[in-house]
Amino acid sequence: MVIEPKKVVSVHYTLTEGTADGQLVESTNGGQPLVFIFGIGSMIPDFEKNLNGMKAGDQFSFGIPAAQAYGEYDDTALVEVPKNMFEMDGKIPDGLLEIGNMLPLTDQQGNHFQGMVAWVGLDKVKIDFNHPMAGVDLFFTGHVESVRDADPTELEHGHVHGEGGHHH
Ligand SMILES: [Zn+2]
Repeated sequence: MVIEPKKVVSVHYTLTEGTADGQLVESTNGGQPLVFIFGIGSMIPDFEKNLNGMKAGDQFSFGIPAAQAYGEYDDTALVEVPKNMFEMDGKIPDGLLEIGNMLPLTDQQGNHFQGMVAWVGLDKVKIDFNHPMAGVDLFFTGHVESVRDADPTELEHGHVHGEGGHHH
């Protein structure tokens, strides 16, 4: 059975930055494999493109440029705002505005999103709205564990049931 749309695919992979020897981002080795339904838009399109047609046991090794992954780093998404925006009852909660903190925010349309504290000044802060992996070229190495047909209910729910998936 080969990987194609509506198959449940299980892979072990290691994700590094730029090349196979780059900085380690994450790895499934020693843990549970990544299990997902192929071809329903849950993964980065180039990730699926590289696995298309593979079968259990096949090895893979490929790069995905930042623009095709989490996007290029956008300088205009680094925004300076007054600190008092984050005051609650007249004061900023302790530890809220520390570099690297992810802040849950809401825009005027009520959409929820996250921004990272990138810089803290006397009365202003810079919040970075780029994806944490923006501007990073990805490199994947790994192998296909298994390929099976997705159940009709899995396709209906848009996620995998059982091992490595949802239990409900
Ligand atoms: Zn379900």
